[in-house]
Amino acid sequence: MTTTPEELEPMLKAQRAAFMAARPEPLSVRRDRIERLVALMVDNADELCAAMSEDFGNRAWTQSMVTDIMATVNFAKYCLSNLKGWAKPEKRKVQFPLGALGGKAELRFEPKGVVGILSPWNFPVNLAFGPLAQVLAAGNRAMLKPSEFTPKTSEVMARLIAEKFRPDEVAVAAGGPDVAQAFSALPFDHLVFTGSTETGRKVMQAAADNLTPVTLELGGKSPVVIGRSADLTRAGERIVMGKMMNAGQICLAPDYLLVPADMEEGVIAALELAMMDQYPDLTENEDYATIITDDKAERLRDMVADAKAGGADVVEIAPGGTASADKRKLPLTIVRNPSDSLACMEEEIFGPVLPIKTYETLDEAIDYINSRDRPLGLYFFGSDNAEREQVLSRTISGGVTVNDVVFHVTAEDLPFGGVGSSGIGAYHGPEGFREFSHARSVFTQPKVDIAGLAGIKPPYGERARKTMKLMLRK
Ligand code: NAD
Repeated sequence: MTTTPEELEPMLKAQRAAFMAARPEPLSVRRDRIERLVALMVDNADELCAAMSEDFGNRAWTQSMVTDIMATVNFAKYCLSNLKGWAKPEKRKVQFPLGALGGKAELRFEPKGVVGILSPWNFPVNLAFGPLAQVLAAGNRAMLKPSEFTPKTSEVMARLIAEKFRPDEVAVAAGGPDVAQAFSALPFDHLVFTGSTETGRKVMQAAADNLTPVTLELGGKSPVVIGRSADLTRAGERIVMGKMMNAGQICLAPDYLLVPADMEEGVIAALELAMMDQYPDLTENEDYATIITDDKAERLRDMVADAKAGGADVVEIAPGGTASADKRKLPLTIVRNPSDSLACMEEEIFGPVLPIKTYETLDEAIDYINSRDRPLGLYFFGSDNAEREQVLSRTISGGVTVNDVVFHVTAEDLPFGGVGSSGIGAYHGPEGFREFSHARSVFTQPKVDIAGLAGIKPPYGERARKTMKLMLRK
């Protein structure tokens, strides 16, 4: 099934008309929609996991259940339990003399209307239905355009959504970059895009023509700083788990390590140990996901070849041997002390390649991070609080996990998003609800003639001058 670009505008018009006609909708309607979304995922979890595995070539049922089903269901339930509190209007202070004379100020969180969601392939269910849960929590309608790289999963998601939702509530558009481009040019009330920084830039340009506000969840190179006080065995275990999950195809994957020079050997040994523990017989291992396409696997192989040609020391870690019938299962490949001109230090890696740069002083590592684009995630390993604060207070990133990688995204009450070229805006947490709501200011004027009393109603005279004198006291 493919949606033609011409079919998109009528879908949006139908949703906007239904949205306007149904206002105001009680919170119970939002709750019902989120409950339907939860039921859709729980009842069809196996089919969705099978579709994801088919799209990837191989992806473990357990991994898909954890990253795409359980995580998304839990987030939708978190939205359900917080909905009432989030949606509650807030009283705001009114300054003197308006407040003293009875003026009242209130902030209401109202739905924006129709929100477009453009999602990538790496966590195809999570990154489509996760934003959707919070978009629905805020009372909006939604149109989704899942990735063309996961056609089977996108097809199952479209069918299940059509079974559970009216097209004027939630609709799915299918297709490749041409449909995506037409989708991003629609005059949505808000647009959420998850994908690469390069495509994000195009999406924002298209949205600008309509003055459509955007949430851009982008990528980048998330660094790991190994502090001098780090427990290397634990760091190795956690870095391997975060790097090898989904074969490194995670926006928050640890992209490169910054390690004290005299600890480099120890870090590599810890990574090797963790690999043997978690992925004995790596390439034939069902737990290990494949790279999504031949082209993307080839890109990673080219990246390693480029590192070797550039003189870097390349170490492959593949317990059980690197020979595999599956060309899309790649070993963990460490690139020691790469130069900045190598592809693996210029591009987001998005696979199991892990450059390690060494440093003499922590300031050197911090300066290196600060000389590059602002990353989506930043990771610090160590028990020395002063070192940790030195890193956190002198760098900028979307989010941080201390003594692990990736995990801050799992804390549902924390906003998740990037900064600079890793993204704009955030969802998750109360901030996500606000992102998808319009915070509407409502001021109610009392009966008393405030402007007249203050003398600021024409004709102006002596009273106005007195008011100014009173108000401008230092
Ligand atoms: P991508 O940018 O290639 O594609 C994402 C989506 O954009 C797809 O649905 C695609 O159809 C659409 N698209 C393609 N061309 C378009 C255009 N010209 N205009 C509008 N839309 C267009 O990204 P990808 O390869 O699917 O995903 C990998 C990237 O996503 C990585 O950079 C990764 O870091 C990032 N990512 C970020 C997050 C996050 O939450 N910050 C999560 C996952 C992935």
